Amino acid sequence: MDFTLSEDQKMYIDTVRKFVKQEITPSILGLEKEHAFPAAIIEKIWDLGFMNLSLPAEARGFEMDTVSSALIIKELSYGDSGISTSAMCNDLANVVITMHGTQKQKEMFLWPFIEKPLISSFCLTEPDAGSDNSAMKTFIKKDSNGRYILNGEKCFITNASYAKQFTIFCKVGKPDSLIVACLVIPSGTIEKSKILKSSSGAREIVLPEGGTILTGKPEEKLGQLLSNTATVKFEDVVIDDEQIIGNRRLGFHYALDVLDYARPMVAAIGVGLAKRAFDITVAYTKERRQFGKRICDLPVARDTIVKMWKKLEFADMALMKAAWKVQEGAPDRGVYASLAKNAAAEAALYCTSEGLHLHGGYGFMAEYEIAKLSRDAHIIDIYEGTREVQDMIIGREIL
Ligand SMILES: Cc1cc2nc3c(=O)[nH]c(=O)nc-3n(C[C@H](O)[C@H](O)[C@H](O)COP(=O)(O)OP(=O)(O)OC[C@H]3O[C@@H](n4cnc5c(N)ncnc54)[C@H](O)[C@@H]3O)c2cc1C
Repeated sequence: MDFTLSEDQKMYIDTVRKFVKQEITPSILGLEKEHAFPAAIIEKIWDLGFMNLSLPAEARGFEMDTVSSALIIKELSYGDSGISTSAMCNDLANVVITMHGTQKQKEMFLWPFIEKPLISSFCLTEPDAGSDNSAMKTFIKKDSNGRYILNGEKCFITNASYAKQFTIFCKVGKPDSLIVACLVIPSGTIEKSKILKSSSGAREIVLPEGGTILTGKPEEKLGQLLSNTATVKFEDVVIDDEQIIGNRRLGFHYALDVLDYARPMVAAIGVGLAKRAFDITVAYTKERRQFGKRICDLPVARDTIVKMWKKLEFADMALMKAAWKVQEGAPDRGVYASLAKNAAAEAALYCTSEGLHLHGGYGFMAEYEIAKLSRDAHIIDIYEGTREVQDMIIGREIL
């Protein structure tokens, strides 16, 4: 493992840093207050070529390696972790097609993402199946014409209100079946659908081949206000065989492959967020004076800043190791992906809560960015598997 950055990686970092400095940082608190989906910013990220990082080489002539993807997401998350969550969600939804789709499925379901800035959703979680995904009830079953029909409800789905394509994990045959499939409702179909939008932001998508997708009112959240989250309900949706990715019995294995790839990306979001909290705290404590000294020069406060830095650096190292393991296809990549996710969540939570504390009363004021970062940090410890789920994976692997 070599930590030396390639010329391309340096260029990616430099480009995203400039973008974040110009397009996100100056207006972030205003954007948060507006609480509107940052479609224009996401379009610019697409224009720069920093979305859909998991596309296969045949799609656009080159493949973005996992370490570079992590570096890009980390820099973007330094600007805002909600925006990077929205942008990165396309990979969460599409990497399974890159990994397990046929050539025809790649062309049908991935190529449109090169042509225009489409957004997709990854639909795994259900109201009664969160940490325990195997308890999902959404299912496909053949009707009397031999066509699969999809029914069920997913919750907490990122990008749901704006998605033009959905990747769905579901049971095969009946809700309590042991077989899980992965299928795609493609952008081509959604674009041909009749879409009714309510004033609350809910959508009713009437599909041309039959059935309806209902996306709920966008959820009101504690943090990451610039990412969109909503429920997705499938009612009698007709599914063609070619919409089922790879082997229709291997959906659960495919979901694990996706999470091995995606957990280092969540770790990158957490490290980017933690770095922002660290930097603004250092800047603040260099400015603010009490007892005749800068806060950062008061020994006990400095101790806290040192601890923040150590957690951040440890998390960054864990992230790089996990990204490298995933890139190499190492057999133990899953355990390092879980380690990186936990380390990043710990760094994000520690740097934001201690950073807020070091801002004193000002940290509790909404006009200070550290307050927003503190709200955002909690989700790093929850989505794509909570801390306890990662610990279960680590425990299983090391014992
Ligand atoms: C903003 C946001 C965006 C999301 N985006 C998506 C998305 O795009 N697609 C998607 O499919 N999902 C998404 N999720 C869902 C997310 O992955 C789940 O919320 C998460 O996996 C936890 O599931 P749960 O909420 O049902 O919690 P639960 O599973 O009910 O867990 C509750 C608590 O119990 C603990 N717990 C559970 N089981 C165990 C155990 N065996 N041992 C010890 N402790 C345990 C958990 O760690 C947690 O602390 C999103 C969630 C949020 C909040």
